[in-house]
Amino acid sequence: MNKKEIIGNIHSYESFGTVDGPGIRFVVFLQGCPLRCKYCHNPDTWSITDSKIQESPREVFEKVKRYKKYFGKKGGLTLTGGEPLLQLDFVLELFKLCKEENIHTALDTSGYIFNNKVKKILEYTDLILLDIKSIDEEVYKSLTGVELTNTLEFAQYLNKINKKTWIRHVVVPEITDNDNLLTRLSDYISKLNNIENIEVLPYHKLGVFKYKELGLNYVLDGIEELSKERLENAINILNR
Ligand code: SF4
Repeated sequence: MNKKEIIGNIHSYESFGTVDGPGIRFVVFLQGCPLRCKYCHNPDTWSITDSKIQESPREVFEKVKRYKKYFGKKGGLTLTGGEPLLQLDFVLELFKLCKEENIHTALDTSGYIFNNKVKKILEYTDLILLDIKSIDEEVYKSLTGVELTNTLEFAQYLNKINKKTWIRHVVVPEITDNDNLLTRLSDYISKLNNIENIEVLPYHKLGVFKYKELGLNYVLDGIEELSKERLENAINILNR
């Protein structure tokens, strides 16, 4: 009997990405996410069955390889979404192919899915972009619809195996733009030894039009984008 072929549900590609990891990157947005972040600017990635592209790890790898000459020393492939770890087999096979070809691999994740297969994937992952949406359990649950526990277990495991990690944190007025919460997050991160970078991302409304297109209610209507001053404040606290 033939082994069942692994097929990835893909939302879209970006060939020269510069904001999802170091250097020039081929970015693959995977379809499907178990979280429902109130500020999500990609609600069109939520449902795994809505993918516009379905391809095998080998097919995606062949695309990535075409851009290898542009990656230089730092660049490579980034998987984001959605939540890439919803498609464990696909991620594992694609990253294995990349590492055989010496292509840098980065994974942008909420850390919500954490199991033995994820640990296996980490063996082929050079960099984790870990989105900690809030350090407070109640705020996290209210913001994302899921529990914080897995994300923190994931963070502790990354620290234990000394996996190079960038922390990402979106600062939203009235929700996570709070000095007490930011200080608690900063304290948490300061105890980890594997953090190379902290990316503080200001809340913006660029994805709001998608909610209208999808017929979804945008619950943060009325909340303004983050001001420059508050962004600087958050950067200062998180980089203490
Ligand atoms: S984890 Fe990312 S893709 Fe999923 S809901 Fe949150 S912001 Fe959107």
